[in-house]
Amino acid sequence: MKIHQGDTILMIKGKEKGKKAKVLRGFPAKSFILVDGVNIKKIHKRPKKEGEKGQVVEVPAPFNISKVKLVCPKCSKPTRVGYDITTGKKKRICQKCKAEI
Ligand SMILES: [Zn+2]
Repeated sequence: MKIHQGDTILMIKGKEKGKKAKVLRGFPAKSFILVDGVNIKKIHKRPKKEGEKGQVVEVPAPFNISKVKLVCPKCSKPTRVGYDITTGKKKRICQKCKAEI
């Protein structure tokens, strides 16, 4: 998967288009990512003990990586991800500045 945990991404689709945020977790098997503050869902929690109140908790939900673009940490532009295999090792590179990311 081209987007990893800890990357900064830019939303390019949906109602949160234009938002920049950090990837909290990747799910490579499904090509899903969990992003801080994006795709917030409300979870209604029931009281577990007597005297406790039910709560509405807001948590981010995972979504498909096709909705985002990676923001390059070197040139800080939204970019596509490429791979450089010329040195024998697979390196992830920015298609704009060709720096290893
Ligand atoms: Zn770059």
